[in-house]
Amino acid sequence: MTAAIAGWVQGTATTGVGAVMGLLAGGRVGAAVGGALSGIFAIPFGRAVRRGEPYQGPGGLRRCIVDATWSAPNTWAGALFYGALRLRGNPLDVDRTRGTGSIWLVNGVVPRYATTIGTVKAGSNERIDRHEEIHVLQARLFGPLYLPLVVANFVVATLVPYWLLFPDRAGYTIDSVAAYFERGVYPHVWHELWAYRAAGRGPSGGPRRAGSKGKETGTHRR
Ligand SMILES: [Zn+2]
Repeated sequence: MTAAIAGWVQGTATTGVGAVMGLLAGGRVGAAVGGALSGIFAIPFGRAVRRGEPYQGPGGLRRCIVDATWSAPNTWAGALFYGALRLRGNPLDVDRTRGTGSIWLVNGVVPRYATTIGTVKAGSNERIDRHEEIHVLQARLFGPLYLPLVVANFVVATLVPYWLLFPDRAGYTIDSVAAYFERGVYPHVWHELWAYRAAGRGPSGGPRRAGSKGKETGTHRR
Protein backbone atom coordinates (compact mmCIF):
# COMPACT_ATOMS: atom_id res chain seq x y z
CA MET A 1 0.00 0.00 0.00
CA THR A 2 1.37 3.38 -0.90
CA ALA A 3 1.67 6.19 1.61
CA ALA A 4 -0.65 8.31 -0.53
CA ILE A 5 -3.43 5.72 -0.25
CA ALA A 6 -2.82 5.36 3.51
CA GLY A 7 -3.11 9.13 3.88
CA TRP A 8 -6.34 9.15 1.95
CA VAL A 9 -7.73 6.26 4.00
CA GLN A 10 -6.92 7.92 7.35
CA GLY A 11 -8.27 11.28 6.17
CA THR A 12 -11.48 9.63 5.00
CA ALA A 13 -11.85 7.80 8.31
CA THR A 14 -11.42 11.09 10.18
CA THR A 15 -14.09 12.78 8.07
CA GLY A 16 -16.38 9.75 8.41
CA VAL A 17 -16.20 9.74 12.21
CA GLY A 18 -17.04 13.45 12.25
CA ALA A 19 -20.03 12.82 9.98
CA VAL A 20 -21.31 9.91 12.10
CA MET A 21 -20.99 11.90 15.33
CA GLY A 22 -22.76 14.82 13.66
CA LEU A 23 -25.52 12.48 12.48
CA LEU A 24 -26.05 11.15 16.00
CA ALA A 25 -26.08 14.66 17.43
CA GLY A 26 -28.12 16.49 14.81
CA GLY A 27 -29.40 14.34 11.95
CA ARG A 28 -28.49 15.10 8.36
CA VAL A 29 -27.49 18.68 9.00
CA GLY A 30 -25.33 17.52 11.89
CA ALA A 31 -23.68 14.94 9.65
CA ALA A 32 -22.84 17.60 7.06
CA VAL A 33 -21.44 19.97 9.66
CA GLY A 34 -19.51 17.25 11.51
CA GLY A 35 -18.10 15.86 8.30
CA ALA A 36 -17.09 19.29 6.99
CA LEU A 37 -15.44 20.41 10.23
CA SER A 38 -13.59 17.12 10.58
CA GLY A 39 -12.60 17.32 6.92
CA ILE A 40 -10.67 20.51 7.71
CA PHE A 41 -8.51 18.45 10.08
CA ALA A 42 -8.50 15.36 7.88
CA ILE A 43 -6.57 17.11 5.09
CA PRO A 44 -3.39 18.00 7.04
CA PHE A 45 -3.64 14.70 8.93
CA GLY A 46 -3.86 12.68 5.70
CA ARG A 47 -0.91 14.67 4.38
CA ALA A 48 1.09 13.80 7.51
CA VAL A 49 0.39 10.10 6.90
CA ARG A 50 1.52 10.48 3.27
CA ARG A 51 4.69 12.39 4.20
CA GLY A 52 5.59 10.48 7.35
CA GLU A 53 4.71 7.00 6.01
CA PRO A 54 3.87 5.52 9.45
CA TYR A 55 2.29 2.45 7.87
CA GLN A 56 5.29 1.41 5.78
CA GLY A 57 6.87 -1.95 6.55
CA PRO A 58 5.72 -5.07 8.42
CA GLY A 59 2.34 -4.79 10.13
CA GLY A 60 1.63 -1.45 8.50
CA LEU A 61 -1.36 -2.55 6.46
CA ARG A 62 -2.99 -4.19 9.49
CA ARG A 63 -2.47 -1.08 11.63
CA CYS A 64 -3.76 1.17 8.86
CA ILE A 65 -6.96 -0.89 8.60
CA VAL A 66 -7.48 -0.95 12.40
CA ASP A 67 -6.90 2.82 12.66
CA ALA A 68 -9.45 3.49 9.90
CA THR A 69 -12.15 1.15 11.31
CA TRP A 70 -12.29 -0.12 14.93
CA SER A 71 -9.97 2.62 16.20
CA ALA A 72 -11.34 5.36 13.91
CA PRO A 73 -12.72 7.47 16.82
CA ASN A 74 -9.18 7.58 18.24
CA THR A 75 -7.82 8.46 14.82
CA TRP A 76 -10.36 11.29 14.63
CA ALA A 77 -9.27 12.62 18.05
CA GLY A 78 -5.63 12.29 17.00
CA ALA A 79 -6.29 14.19 13.77
CA LEU A 80 -7.83 17.10 15.70
CA PHE A 81 -4.91 17.03 18.12
CA TYR A 82 -2.46 16.97 15.19
CA GLY A 83 -4.14 19.90 13.42
CA ALA A 84 -4.27 22.02 16.58
CA LEU A 85 -0.57 21.46 17.28
CA ARG A 86 0.49 22.04 13.67
CA LEU A 87 -1.34 25.37 13.77
CA ARG A 88 0.89 26.27 16.69
CA GLY A 89 3.93 25.51 14.54
CA ASN A 90 4.76 22.10 16.04
CA PRO A 91 6.79 20.29 13.35
CA LEU A 92 6.25 16.70 12.14
CA ASP A 93 9.34 14.52 12.51
CA VAL A 94 9.18 12.53 9.29
CA ASP A 95 12.12 10.24 10.08
CA ARG A 96 10.76 9.23 13.49
CA THR A 97 7.31 8.63 12.02
CA ARG A 98 8.26 6.32 9.16
CA GLY A 99 7.27 2.69 9.71
CA THR A 100 6.34 3.16 13.39
CA GLY A 101 2.54 3.11 13.09
CA SER A 102 2.36 6.46 14.87
CA ILE A 103 2.91 10.13 14.08
CA TRP A 104 5.68 12.03 15.86
CA LEU A 105 5.32 15.76 16.57
CA VAL A 106 8.52 17.31 17.90
CA ASN A 107 7.23 19.48 20.75
CA GLY A 108 5.11 18.51 23.75
CA VAL A 109 1.95 20.21 24.97
CA VAL A 110 2.64 20.15 28.70
CA PRO A 111 6.18 21.28 29.62
CA ARG A 112 8.45 18.28 30.35
CA TYR A 113 5.74 15.82 29.25
CA ALA A 114 4.74 13.93 26.16
CA THR A 115 1.09 13.50 25.18
CA THR A 116 -0.38 10.82 22.94
CA ILE A 117 -3.88 10.86 21.44
CA GLY A 118 -4.78 8.13 18.95
CA THR A 119 -1.73 7.64 16.76
CA VAL A 120 -0.35 11.15 17.37
CA LYS A 121 2.50 11.56 19.85
CA ALA A 122 3.65 15.06 20.86
CA GLY A 123 6.99 15.59 22.57
CA SER A 124 8.11 11.97 22.87
CA ASN A 125 11.77 11.01 23.00
CA GLU A 126 13.83 7.80 22.87
CA ARG A 127 13.71 7.34 26.64
CA ILE A 128 9.93 7.36 27.00
CA ASP A 129 8.70 6.37 23.57
CA ARG A 130 7.91 2.84 24.71
CA HIS A 131 5.40 4.29 27.18
CA GLU A 132 3.79 6.49 24.51
CA GLU A 133 3.60 3.54 22.08
CA ILE A 134 1.65 1.60 24.73
CA HIS A 135 -1.02 4.34 24.61
CA VAL A 136 -1.14 3.95 20.81
CA LEU A 137 -1.60 0.19 21.29
CA GLN A 138 -4.30 0.71 23.97
CA ALA A 139 -6.29 2.86 21.55
CA ARG A 140 -6.10 0.12 18.89
CA LEU A 141 -7.13 -2.58 21.34
CA PHE A 142 -10.07 -0.73 22.90
CA GLY A 143 -11.14 1.21 19.80
CA PRO A 144 -14.27 3.32 20.40
CA LEU A 145 -14.26 2.38 24.10
CA TYR A 146 -10.78 3.74 24.77
CA LEU A 147 -11.37 7.48 25.25
CA PRO A 148 -14.65 7.00 27.18
CA LEU A 149 -12.88 4.53 29.51
CA VAL A 150 -9.99 6.95 30.01
CA VAL A 151 -12.30 9.88 30.77
CA ALA A 152 -14.43 7.73 33.08
CA ASN A 153 -11.37 6.66 35.08
CA PHE A 154 -10.18 10.27 35.41
CA VAL A 155 -13.59 11.26 36.76
CA VAL A 156 -13.71 8.35 39.23
CA ALA A 157 -10.09 8.84 40.36
CA THR A 158 -10.83 12.53 40.97
CA LEU A 159 -14.06 11.99 42.91
CA VAL A 160 -13.06 8.76 44.71
CA PRO A 161 -9.32 8.77 45.54
CA TYR A 162 -8.98 4.95 45.63
CA TRP A 163 -5.31 5.45 44.81
CA LEU A 164 -4.69 6.54 48.42
CA LEU A 165 -4.89 2.83 49.26
CA PHE A 166 -2.26 1.81 46.68
CA PRO A 167 1.11 0.48 47.90
CA ASP A 168 3.08 3.33 46.29
CA ARG A 169 1.33 5.81 48.62
CA ALA A 170 4.43 6.23 50.82
CA GLY A 171 6.46 7.47 47.85
CA TYR A 172 4.74 10.84 47.34
CA THR A 173 2.99 13.62 49.23
CA ILE A 174 -0.33 15.33 48.46
CA ASP A 175 0.15 18.90 49.64
CA SER A 176 -1.81 20.86 47.04
CA VAL A 177 -4.63 20.59 44.54
CA ALA A 178 -2.01 20.27 41.79
CA ALA A 179 -0.32 17.41 43.63
CA TYR A 180 -3.71 15.69 44.04
CA PHE A 181 -4.00 15.53 40.26
CA GLU A 182 -0.35 15.17 39.33
CA ARG A 183 0.73 12.58 41.89
CA GLY A 184 -2.60 11.05 42.81
CA VAL A 185 -5.09 10.99 39.95
CA TYR A 186 -2.91 10.97 36.85
CA PRO A 187 -0.47 8.10 37.55
CA HIS A 188 -3.28 5.89 38.92
CA VAL A 189 -5.73 5.76 36.03
CA TRP A 190 -5.82 2.37 34.30
CA HIS A 191 -4.09 3.27 31.06
CA GLU A 192 -1.22 5.05 32.86
CA LEU A 193 -0.74 2.25 35.40
CA TRP A 194 -0.51 -0.16 32.47
CA ALA A 195 1.87 2.01 30.45
CA TYR A 196 4.16 2.76 33.40
CA ARG A 197 4.25 -0.89 34.37
CA ALA A 198 4.89 -2.14 30.84
CA ALA A 199 7.52 0.50 30.10
CA GLY A 200 9.21 -0.13 33.45
CA ARG A 201 9.47 3.47 34.62
CA GLY A 202 7.50 5.52 37.15
CA PRO A 203 6.03 8.97 36.45
CA SER A 204 9.04 10.65 38.07
CA GLY A 205 11.40 8.94 35.66
CA GLY A 206 12.70 6.41 38.16
CA PRO A 207 11.25 3.04 39.12
CA ARG A 208 7.50 3.17 39.74
CA ARG A 209 7.33 5.25 42.90
CA ALA A 210 6.96 8.97 43.39
CA GLY A 211 4.32 10.64 41.24
CA SER A 212 4.92 13.83 39.35
CA LYS A 213 3.12 15.94 36.77
CA GLY A 214 0.63 15.74 33.94
CA LYS A 215 -2.97 14.68 33.73
CA GLU A 216 -3.99 14.33 30.12
CA THR A 217 -4.69 11.33 27.96
CA GLY A 218 -1.44 9.50 27.56
CA THR A 219 0.70 12.19 29.08
CA HIS A 220 4.11 11.17 30.30
CA ARG A 221 7.07 12.97 31.77
CA ARG A 222 9.99 13.36 29.39
ZN1 LIG B 1 1.15 7.85 29.79
